[in-house]
Amino acid sequence: MRRLLVVAMLIGSGLAAGSARGQKPPLLPEKDVAALANELSGETAKRNLEGIARFHRQRGSQGFHSAAELVAERARAYGLSDVAILQFPADGKIFYGTQRSRPAWDAEVGELTEINLGGPPVCDKEKIENGKIVLNTECEPPYEQKIASYAAEPVVLAEDSESADVKAELVDVGDGTKESDYAGKNVKGKIVLVSAQPGAVQDLAVGKFGAVGIVSYAQNQKTAWSGDDQNLIRWGHLETFSEHKTFAFMVSLKRARAMKEWLAPGKNHGIRLHAVVKAGQHVGNYEVVSATIPGADPKLKEEEVAFSCHLDHQRPGANDNASGCVTILEVARTLQKLISAGKLARPARTIRFIWPPEIEGTVTLLNARPEFAKQIKAVVHMDMVGGGPETKAMFHVTRGPMSLPNFVHDVAWAFAEFVNEESYKFAATGTAKYPFVAPEGGKEPLRAEYSAYTMGSDHDVYQDSSFGIPAIYLNDWPDRYIHTNFDTAANIDPTKLKRAAFIGAASGYFLAGLTAKSEPQMVLSSEMRAMRLSAQMTGHILQVEPAEQQTLNGIFTSYISGADESLQVFPGASKAVPSQAKKPSNKQNISELVFKRSATPKGPLAVFGYDYFADHAKAAGGATPKLLSYEGLWGAGEEYAYEVLNFADGKRNAQEIRDAVSAEYGPVPLEMVVEYLRALEKIGVVEQVK
Ligand SMILES: [Zn+2]
Repeated sequence: MRRLLVVAMLIGSGLAAGSARGQKPPLLPEKDVAALANELSGETAKRNLEGIARFHRQRGSQGFHSAAELVAERARAYGLSDVAILQFPADGKIFYGTQRSRPAWDAEVGELTEINLGGPPVCDKEKIENGKIVLNTECEPPYEQKIASYAAEPVVLAEDSESADVKAELVDVGDGTKESDYAGKNVKGKIVLVSAQPGAVQDLAVGKFGAVGIVSYAQNQKTAWSGDDQNLIRWGHLETFSEHKTFAFMVSLKRARAMKEWLAPGKNHGIRLHAVVKAGQHVGNYEVVSATIPGADPKLKEEEVAFSCHLDHQRPGANDNASGCVTILEVARTLQKLISAGKLARPARTIRFIWPPEIEGTVTLLNARPEFAKQIKAVVHMDMVGGGPETKAMFHVTRGPMSLPNFVHDVAWAFAEFVNEESYKFAATGTAKYPFVAPEGGKEPLRAEYSAYTMGSDHDVYQDSSFGIPAIYLNDWPDRYIHTNFDTAANIDPTKLKRAAFIGAASGYFLAGLTAKSEPQMVLSSEMRAMRLSAQMTGHILQVEPAEQQTLNGIFTSYISGADESLQVFPGASKAVPSQAKKPSNKQNISELVFKRSATPKGPLAVFGYDYFADHAKAAGGATPKLLSYEGLWGAGEEYAYEVLNFADGKRNAQEIRDAVSAEYGPVPLEMVVEYLRALEKIGVVEQVK
């Protein structure tokens, strides 16, 4: 095997693991770290979480608005500046970059009742009315059983349900996503019981076969614990833009199994349901709460370091994502208090806090208010940061995509590693200078993991090449209660909130104060970065064919130098060094094609409740690119697609893009990459420049 540069750099540097580890905290003066550790409170964060978790926070809804008001009220009380609930019209037609705005959705009533249990309805012969005995003509079922109530547990009514008042039989159609699921079953005028998400079956069940509603026990967000707890009710969704409007109720696996058993062929049993729904889409607003702590430097205060989360989701949604929202709120309170008391110096840059609906709110904000995209230089994004042992969560400090090499992730990791060590020392011995333990919380060590880029939250939007803003992503995964009625405040550990708050606050505060005058930091050096990443990168290199190894090694090495370069650029000390000269290509023709991302539309192509690529590619015609269903060694379709577009910068040729995504997610044929780029060209997202 040829000598690998990443590994060689390490050996050459003479650094031993741990040489940079001292008792002293990294990057910030110890008095700053002590002030943060002292002021950040897991309990304060959790009390705010208990408030937010009461609301069913669907985009554009009353519940979301109530949560936004709560956050804005707290931010004002904490003394933040520029506190506002920004509103952006959402009517289903307006586009914000790649996001077609989804109309707001609200519900008043959602009741599902099983009626006519145990036989045909009976009439009492007589009843008393105004003191007189009269003949009773209203037949009541012998008894009825309430299955679901939106008023009690709003998660039972799928998002985007429409009004209805129907009494109908329930028909089990299995998965419900294939025509064969309906063979030999008459579902016209009936309610279907399905295992898929309502949105995945509505066009078939309602549009094609005439069903009047859906009952779903979808089990998405798969983890090792999926199905173990039969009582969980999962958050369900209809397709926002489907023309076959309907309603859908979500039931637990336990309820669904009992229904399936009762309806099983040969049993001759039926289930009759009464569904009453008052709900629907309407013209409304995406709401985004925002606040700032103004920077001190007359020039650099125009630049911002932003804290982000997502405020939407089903009730209770405690870990996903009341936890991230209250943790950045606690960072806001703490920084504001310490800065105004003079315990922390006011940083050069402005610090901004943002509470949007997930992904769609961020795409909307960055498109509708381009000054945000221009001013924000780095983001600390928190999505699920409070899961206690009950949730089985692991805490991740997640890097950015390889298309955006950056040093900010090393900043977050330096603080996370510090918390790992101090919290372990405390757990193991009962003594540590910085245990980061909340009085009402756990004492377990943090054990945060430094993870390669994973997708699925607003950090994807910031790091998309149309914005190119590096984002630190703090997140729990797995969480066995995600998107269910059991994602409750009871599972949230105040100690974990305090630790996430510290890692975020310290990282954001350090970045906001990082200027050309700041001293160089060993922990952010090229050698440390290479050492940190080399284990995983070497592991990947060893998994591919020898012919690919040198390519991957080259890509990894240029990722590290790209991150070095970002550290030069961020403080404004020097201009970006132009990327290395292109290797002359001696491969076939298509390898030399060069594509460049168009100025618009801005945003990732698969956003929330809307797929820009699928929608536009359908109109343009042509087969679905094979890349979208490609399974690589370390990633799959959606990830390749996201990065191919990000790497299309007008400089890299197709071969170089292919090599870059191969290093990130595993070797992929050049032809597939070119086919996807051609499809993007067809819908105007990229243009060929060579
Ligand atoms: Zn989330």
